[in-house]
Amino acid sequence: MDKRKGRLVINTKQFLESFHGKEKINFNCIKQYGKKLNSEYNDKTIDVLSQLNEQGYNIYFYVNGGGVKDKEINKFNALFIDFDKGKIQSKEYYPLDEVAKYKEECIKKVQDFDFEPSFIVETRNGIHVYWLLNEGALPEEWKICTEKLISYFDSDPRVKNPARLMRVPNYNWIKDINNPFMCNIIESNNIKYDIEDFMFCLPDIEKKEIKKSNRIIKTVKKVDSNNNDNMNIMAIKNLDVDMMKLLLDRGGKRCNDIIYTIYKEYIVTPKTHDKDIPTDTLVLSDMEFFDLIEYIDLYIFLGVDGDKFSCILPSHEDNNPSAGIVTNQNDHYMYNCFGCGFKGGILKLIQAISGCNLPQSINFLKAVFNITTETEYQKQQKELYDSNISYILSGKMENDYPDLWKYIKPRKTKLITLLEYAKNNITDEKYSIDGDSIFYGSIRYFKDLLNIGSLETINKTIQLFNFLELVTKIAPEEIPSEMLEKHKKKAKENKHKNLINTYMIKSYDYNTLQESDEKAKILKDNNFSMKGLSYEYILRTFGEETAKKYYPQNRKSKPSKKSDILTNEIVKIIFCQIELKGFVIEKEIVESLGSQYGREKVKTQMKRSIQEILDKYDLQRIRANKLNKEKYGITCQGYPFIIVRGD
Ligand SMILES: [Zn+2]
Repeated sequence: MDKRKGRLVINTKQFLESFHGKEKINFNCIKQYGKKLNSEYNDKTIDVLSQLNEQGYNIYFYVNGGGVKDKEINKFNALFIDFDKGKIQSKEYYPLDEVAKYKEECIKKVQDFDFEPSFIVETRNGIHVYWLLNEGALPEEWKICTEKLISYFDSDPRVKNPARLMRVPNYNWIKDINNPFMCNIIESNNIKYDIEDFMFCLPDIEKKEIKKSNRIIKTVKKVDSNNNDNMNIMAIKNLDVDMMKLLLDRGGKRCNDIIYTIYKEYIVTPKTHDKDIPTDTLVLSDMEFFDLIEYIDLYIFLGVDGDKFSCILPSHEDNNPSAGIVTNQNDHYMYNCFGCGFKGGILKLIQAISGCNLPQSINFLKAVFNITTETEYQKQQKELYDSNISYILSGKMENDYPDLWKYIKPRKTKLITLLEYAKNNITDEKYSIDGDSIFYGSIRYFKDLLNIGSLETINKTIQLFNFLELVTKIAPEEIPSEMLEKHKKKAKENKHKNLINTYMIKSYDYNTLQESDEKAKILKDNNFSMKGLSYEYILRTFGEETAKKYYPQNRKSKPSKKSDILTNEIVKIIFCQIELKGFVIEKEIVESLGSQYGREKVKTQMKRSIQEILDKYDLQRIRANKLNKEKYGITCQGYPFIIVRGD
């Protein structure tokens, strides 16, 4: 040991005090059983420890403070590693000269390391290296740094728990009773570090480590060998939120920054950036959450590098790097392994790595990135939706609002599905209108969600719900501007002509539903059919004010052209006659309106608009043959065309 540095010559008391200051120290003296001692390192303690050492006890101290169990440790005084030569075939210790050589190699490694150690203690079978820490190291930071140091130095992997015992210098190593070995401080430097120093240098350590692990993969075939040292995968495997946060936080970039950058870039429109930087916890709707996580950089999240790397999945022993990460045109990340065929996004990966279920994977991501999808406001809103749903399911509406119920009953499942959707997509309170939360979705999406065959039917279904105040469609000018901007941006991106539809759902209470019930009665009395539901129908039945209220897109439409007015008149005559006698002969329409509009004009307009009228109001145009004449009690001559209700 000629090359020992030992700039400062210090004794055991000074050594121990540099860890624990003036506080009591936990000692453990182990022969077959342990004898614990909690005391300052004073003359009395020295006496006890020396006697025990003579009796064959090995003398240890707890490096970290706060207790003697891992859970109790709350003061991380140093980072430390143990180089141990081990035994020949796990039986005998190596001869001292061989161990001395090993120690020299280890010391050389430590000297080459960027951070000068605070102490090196020589033991029989190797060396202990310490880097003293200033106060404030967090358990997870300590754990990560220790793991990294072990990995970097290839030191004893078992020496990594917070309540680890280490040898007190200047006492005998006495595992072999016939060959005691005096442990001594061979290097001491008056130096302490902040844990951040080590955290910050970790990426460098990691690079060396990757090279090393590649070497291992080529020579040793061992399941999972390639990922034993990927800390990210370990953290995901254990769903260890704190560890994952620290891993993602390293290099000074906060975990939250990653998510805020995405949030600003993709979820919120650029214009609103300045006033919309979230502070700590990000509140998203469920929909926004699923949208946002697609943008999380999987290289960073999984701690992998390069075009191809060894598959990180525990089920795949990948000795021939065959996994990669791709991004699609929307900047969404996907993991792709040609070896095992695994393809998928971040949630699927978390499940595959850890074996957890879907909600666990969602909660893990939310916790790591400080995302919450429920505020107090959202809880209240959810309650509102739940009350609405229960009320529908209870059947009470049949008694309370009998006419309204007639229209809800056949569409009960669809309405509840919509309510559930709204419940799961409650946006932030700042987007609410008079306290009611709004939600959005495309008609195409709802068509699939509600399992409805045609776009027209889903359109009309929502129109009906809207008219009966069960679901309220929101006009663009009422949408909070921030959200409107977002929707405009999205429509532009997707090259959609129309903005996505925005809705809200009110509480189904008396004030709202009594009016709906009255409207339902009028619908029933006015030949309502789903097909016939339209702006024109509402206009004809309820008047202009109501029509414009429920068809906001028609609100700004120019006053009706003359031809539209005439069409409305035609519709009125048709329904007036059908109401009266069950049918109307086309000639009757021309005669009724001819004097006011001119017979030819009425005929032309009839030809132009009859098909549209039939479709809209669920009517049919049939020849009054003998059979039909009998059926409808028609007495006129010939076989004219008549208009009757659809079957
Ligand atoms: Zn694979």
